[in-house]
Amino acid sequence: MTAPRFHRILLKLSGEVLMGQGQFGIDPATCDRVAGEVKAAKLAGHEICMVVGGGNIFRGLAGAAQGFDRASADYMGMLATVMNALAMQNALEKAGVDTRVQSAIPMASVCEPYIRRRAERHMEKGRVVIFAAGTGLPFFTTDTTAALRAAEMQCDALFKGTSVDGVYDADPKQVPTAKRYDTLGYNRVLADNLKVMDASAVALCRDNDIPIVVFNIRDEGNLTAVLGGHGTSTIVQN
Ligand code: UDP
Repeated sequence: MTAPRFHRILLKLSGEVLMGQGQFGIDPATCDRVAGEVKAAKLAGHEICMVVGGGNIFRGLAGAAQGFDRASADYMGMLATVMNALAMQNALEKAGVDTRVQSAIPMASVCEPYIRRRAERHMEKGRVVIFAAGTGLPFFTTDTTAALRAAEMQCDALFKGTSVDGVYDADPKQVPTAKRYDTLGYNRVLADNLKVMDASAVALCRDNDIPIVVFNIRDEGNLTAVLGGHGTSTIVQN
């Protein structure tokens, strides 16, 4: 049997994924379902760490548009990601998966601080490490955090879980003939401004040769299927 192409992955979930069918906040049933996906992938032998967004609760840009100072609003957004990380931790532990949350903004009574070598050790022990509070810096996003942590943790790929099964040449919800790409180059994504991840995240993945796998996290069993090489996705790579 050949070794899977992607053994260690970073799974990026936007806050929107965690709100399920709702318009705001965290849907516990959705967290449980996502935890089931992660558990199945772990049982299939993969090492997984995660970055969760916060857009289901608070986004810095939206806060700034309403009159908050941008940097303060970004810190509020980072705190929102900690709530999502705790929700995912809860769901994973309920499913019997060992986890640790590490926050880029230290909050000792809630979770561990981000320490790369410690995170590495957790992963070696089979734990899922959930990285919270983004980079800890305003004016960044959790997409960029995902690219950064994927590089730091020497992941084989960054898996971006979305509600569509890849990247299309037009919005598949609007254009029925839209075509899904199987693979795409980083520079094409950047030049055509394709909505995969924000530009700094794509550039960081390009410069560190980390493939970005865009797939539908809502389809049951899909994470394991894509990891096994037989699910539907778009892979952004060199
Ligand atoms: N954020 C930040 N620095 C970071 C990561 C996130 O300031 O390194 C803030 C930013 O305000 C952002 C919010 O946290 O809007 C939530 O993250 P993001 O919008 O990336 O979440 P997602 O869209 O993935 O749900």
